Amino acid sequence: MRVAMIGSGYVGLVSGACFSELGNDVVCVDLDADKIAGLNRGEMPIYEPGLKRLAEGNVAAGRLTFTTDLKQAVGGAEVVFIAVGTPSRHGDGHADLSYVYAAAKEIAAALNGYTVVVDKSTVPVGTGDEVERIIREVRPDAKPGAEFDVVSNPEFLREGSAIEDFMRPDRVVLGVSGERAQEVMRALYQPLYLIETPLVFTSRRTAELIKYAANTFLATKISFINEIADLCEALGADVQDVAKGIGLDGRIGPKFLHAGPGYGGSCFPKDTLALVKTAREAGAPLKIIETVVELNTLRKHHMAERVISATGGNVSGKTIGVLGLTFKPNTDDMRCSPSLDILSVLIKAGAALRAYDPEGMSEARKIKALDAITWCDDAYGALSGADSVVIITEWNEFRALDMERLKKVMKSPVMIDLRNIYNPDEMAAAGIAYYCLGRPGNDA
Ligand code: NAD
Repeated sequence: MRVAMIGSGYVGLVSGACFSELGNDVVCVDLDADKIAGLNRGEMPIYEPGLKRLAEGNVAAGRLTFTTDLKQAVGGAEVVFIAVGTPSRHGDGHADLSYVYAAAKEIAAALNGYTVVVDKSTVPVGTGDEVERIIREVRPDAKPGAEFDVVSNPEFLREGSAIEDFMRPDRVVLGVSGERAQEVMRALYQPLYLIETPLVFTSRRTAELIKYAANTFLATKISFINEIADLCEALGADVQDVAKGIGLDGRIGPKFLHAGPGYGGSCFPKDTLALVKTAREAGAPLKIIETVVELNTLRKHHMAERVISATGGNVSGKTIGVLGLTFKPNTDDMRCSPSLDILSVLIKAGAALRAYDPEGMSEARKIKALDAITWCDDAYGALSGADSVVIITEWNEFRALDMERLKKVMKSPVMIDLRNIYNPDEMAAAGIAYYCLGRPGNDA
């Protein structure tokens, strides 16, 4: 099948490379000419394990190309995906749909023969209706069901394991009305269906809501275990054991039950906010999600306060080592990472920060609020002369630090582990003042 992917960011690039791997002819389009030029030189604009190899193989096989020419890409495609960004709109928390609508207009003008226009971006309920309206407005000659159809196919991949998630998803959700579009989508996803991926066909509006319901549910799980961690500290219980004890219950499941510094990334913060807005406007407010949003904001500030209190209560003039900046490991994505809020508080409180992240530093360096940070080449560089160290992201290379070396390079061996990657007893035995989340032995 001939596929055009409008937007070659995280989702567009990964989906485009994976669809080409499944044997389709894919053109990835972006309006960022530098990004496309880089892709045409074999340079990936994001760090995602396995993506470069996958893209290279399919480019070499002639199934994957990159262009800024949307008109040509859409004109030759049977299926056109919209995979552009839907960030929080400035000021009100609604999803900013300007990129989606601009793409819809351009696609409409380029339609050439029956085409299925598929929205893969995360968009509020009703966006597919508006995309259809825009296409009809730009092309009064084009009728849904005859010249085009608009489908909702939200994406659930996770950064860091995006290719595996795309190739072996738990399910594929397809919001489709009309037999013709349904057959096209079924044929496109047939290779995944053969490995028994459930294809969930539903209405377009329902598909749009499924994506938000999934993300806000997961964000709620994270906030839930973070609150339980605080309670564990107050009661002398262990949050890791609580998570294990409840996670083994099949009705609950073990994932997203790790206490941490709060959720971040390019999706959960904006999607929770957008659903809160949608629900309020629909007259059916979601009190649970409103509370989750509030808790998550507070959480990041509480984490900064913990670092300050473990570093003697006043960090003015003190040096703090920072391990990890991205919102999770195996990505270079800094969008809405908890590190941004935590480190801004520490900088304002007068701390000198030395930071290291295996993949996130080139993105982090672009962020003005982090200008004051000294960027280091490795973990021990970040610890050098530090009064304390905070682990913000659980990259594998931080899981087995040499504690003797750490003690030698730090001014005082104080560790605040916001990901609970070390064992409190072992840290006590190693002579490290160790502060973690929701576990005994924690005096933060
Ligand atoms: P991104 O910012 O990485 O990429 C978007 C790309 O679209 C950019 O490269 C931009 O230049 C391009 N673009 C914008 N308008 C365009 C146009 N008219 N024509 C061509 N290109 C255009 O965004 P992303 O992280 O890939 O997210 C895309 C969507 O997918 C969002 O709605 C997001 O919520 C959703 N999503 C993201 C993830 C994730 O993990 N990143 C997972 C699931 C869903």
